[in-house]
Amino acid sequence: MIRLTIPAIDDAEISAVTEVLRSGYLVQGPRVEAFERAVAERVGVSHAVAVSSGTAALHLALLSLGVGSSDLVVTTVYSWPATANVVELCGATPIFVDIDPATFNLEPNQLETTCRELFADRATAGAVKAILPVHAFGHPADMTAVMEIAGRYELPVVEDAACALGATWNGRPAGSIGRLGCFSFHPRKAITTGEGGMITTDNDGLAKRLRVLRNHGLDPMASDADFVEAGFNYRMTELGGAMGKVQLGKLDQLIDTRRQKAATYHRLLENTAIRAPLEAMGAASVYQSYVVQIPERVGEDQRQVIGQLRERGIEATIGTYHIPLTTFYSQKYGFSVADFPHADSVTRTAVTIPLHQHLEQDEQTQIVDTMLDLLDERKQ
Ligand SMILES: *Cc1c(COP(=O)(O)O)cnc(C)c1O
Repeated sequence: MIRLTIPAIDDAEISAVTEVLRSGYLVQGPRVEAFERAVAERVGVSHAVAVSSGTAALHLALLSLGVGSSDLVVTTVYSWPATANVVELCGATPIFVDIDPATFNLEPNQLETTCRELFADRATAGAVKAILPVHAFGHPADMTAVMEIAGRYELPVVEDAACALGATWNGRPAGSIGRLGCFSFHPRKAITTGEGGMITTDNDGLAKRLRVLRNHGLDPMASDADFVEAGFNYRMTELGGAMGKVQLGKLDQLIDTRRQKAATYHRLLENTAIRAPLEAMGAASVYQSYVVQIPERVGEDQRQVIGQLRERGIEATIGTYHIPLTTFYSQKYGFSVADFPHADSVTRTAVTIPLHQHLEQDEQTQIVDTMLDLLDERKQ
């Protein structure tokens, strides 16, 4: 089976983790701190706060901004459900915006229209608390447009950069552009700590609040333990911290490899019926996933195509989720097909194909040829 993804773990991570196990100090200590400093430096911000997952990062980022009950957060329709779930977990309501099908990211005109409508209505104007764009599959959202719109409505931006460590928009690292950036170190992402996450920010006050919230409400500055609010246990383990530091050292090389293999796919897909993912002007994607689109007319059979690829030894999967059409959101808010036509279409056509550091060029050829054969068979 050609695997979809394989974490880049070798002896360096194994010995770093073994050393932690022998030390007997397992949770949020010097190794987590060192990893935080390394990520802050890499992203180019003053603070990085390590947490237990990307979801925890997003949850705390919103809480640190004071997002609470009856508030609204504007976000994308097409993402891992955690992006919207964290809004619900704050007691707030996500306002969904459709995507640009070429990049899978928030479509700026739709974002502008949504904000204008929300601010034109007195019932909602005061409730909008943040914009939460996602850098889908490691490709940065149009942050020039997002920041411009956010500035006009005086809204803070939280970047869901879960997949985008190392990606840039006009040379600026993902996670350094909005007020807060959130990363995930789940094994499907470019670098991993098993489970893990990080919040980046230049804001001293928010960073302090995040450190309080992740650790039971404990004031990190107080000499005697003092609990200043009802916090969570969202800490990262020392095992994760040690592993993350080693992994971060490989990031540039991993991104390089991913971009080279993405370029090979681009070349193989040129002038075929399969649409390669677009890299927008100004964007440098890290290709956390390589997501193609098959023609819409066979798109209804997308899951069958994925099944057939697996039967032929190629691990493939869908792109990501159309959040408003998941059971929870469709039942709670009454969303249905046609509310977000671009996401509807991408949901039928997007297929993620293998991309990892061990993928060989002849395997990439085999993957593309197999897909084209399958599509040809379907046309007949
Ligand atoms: C992976 C991911 C998350 C959640 O990260 P976890 O570490 O799995 O909690 C959130 N948003 C996006 C866009 C993701 O890809």
